Amino acid sequence: MSDYLLNSIHDKKLRSIAEKVAAEIPVTEADAVDMLCTNHILELGAIADDVRQKLHGTDSFYGVNMNLNYTNVCELRCPLCAYSCDESDEKAYTLSLEEIEKKVRDAVAFGIDEVHIVGGLNPRLKIEYFEAMLRQIRQIKPDMFIVGFTATEYDYFAKLNHISVEEVFRRFVEAGVGALPGGGAEIFAPAVRNIIAPKKISGKRWLEVMRIAHSMGIRTNATMLYNHIEKPSDIADHLSQIRSLQNETKGFKAFVPLPYHDANTEIRANRSISTGFEDIRIYAASRIFLHNIPHIKALWMYLGEKMAQVLLCFGADDIGSTYHYEKVVHAAGAKTADYGSETYLRNLIENAGMKPVKTTSNYQM
Ligand code: SF4
Repeated sequence: MSDYLLNSIHDKKLRSIAEKVAAEIPVTEADAVDMLCTNHILELGAIADDVRQKLHGTDSFYGVNMNLNYTNVCELRCPLCAYSCDESDEKAYTLSLEEIEKKVRDAVAFGIDEVHIVGGLNPRLKIEYFEAMLRQIRQIKPDMFIVGFTATEYDYFAKLNHISVEEVFRRFVEAGVGALPGGGAEIFAPAVRNIIAPKKISGKRWLEVMRIAHSMGIRTNATMLYNHIEKPSDIADHLSQIRSLQNETKGFKAFVPLPYHDANTEIRANRSISTGFEDIRIYAASRIFLHNIPHIKALWMYLGEKMAQVLLCFGADDIGSTYHYEKVVHAAGAKTADYGSETYLRNLIENAGMKPVKTTSNYQM
């Protein structure tokens, strides 16, 4: 960090954080809370941008993918979720292998090179369904990158099929999974998690499943859901647990903060969408705190394209993907389009004065 930048930070707490960053000393959870509560977002952003530029210069990543949400039937019915339903619900669906094939073929015609798969916990779907799905996708396009299933789903598949999580990973990698998307982390703090997703695996178990994936050479993302009932200290705790596991495994490629949308859910957020200051503080604080995770993703579909673009100057280096057929966040009231073209994403990045770099979830261009 240049002396010029350091001297331009006037807020005392942020100055102390900047000095730690310059000396490559990890910031503390108390520092994270200070960052999450500051109103000096330009000074905070300058520190985060310095970290981002050292890692990536002006490179800003995006992907060309489709979302495959194979079923909305879910046993857990988490209060935070607008997407899931019971099997008897009239909006319930489970995609057949034929329907999946058609969706993938249609999206391939648009030039996708990645499929992002997540869905509900549906007891009727056994492991063979998923293996056939994965093999079918690779048959349609042999070099398709498949980023598939949350830690919650892997834990469920293991229990439902009476096999270990290691065995599920081994079989799914053999069938085509290349990486894990990192969903289901929500907020680890039990007091919050027990309200927003009481039946979901604990934060501790989520981290264990990720540790197993990393130990088998599978790279993953890590998410965090904010703008519901969490406090800054819960976010600091979440960041801290992710950073500790990363120190151990080096298996996280990207951290993905996700603003909560509360339409059609049982949890009322303070606001239906997060504020601009809140998004900026969370992204910048994440970039600074998670010095050991290479990428910070600002998904335009969750944040809105304008905020996602601005966040490229506040620590984020990845704007997300084209997301043909996204369903989960739109069920909860997201107002963004349900698909963005490659040209559209490149324009957002170029208009921020940065260089668009097309990639997949493993960041091997
Ligand atoms: S958040 Fe996931 S696990 Fe919870 S109800 Fe929705 S689909 Fe099921």
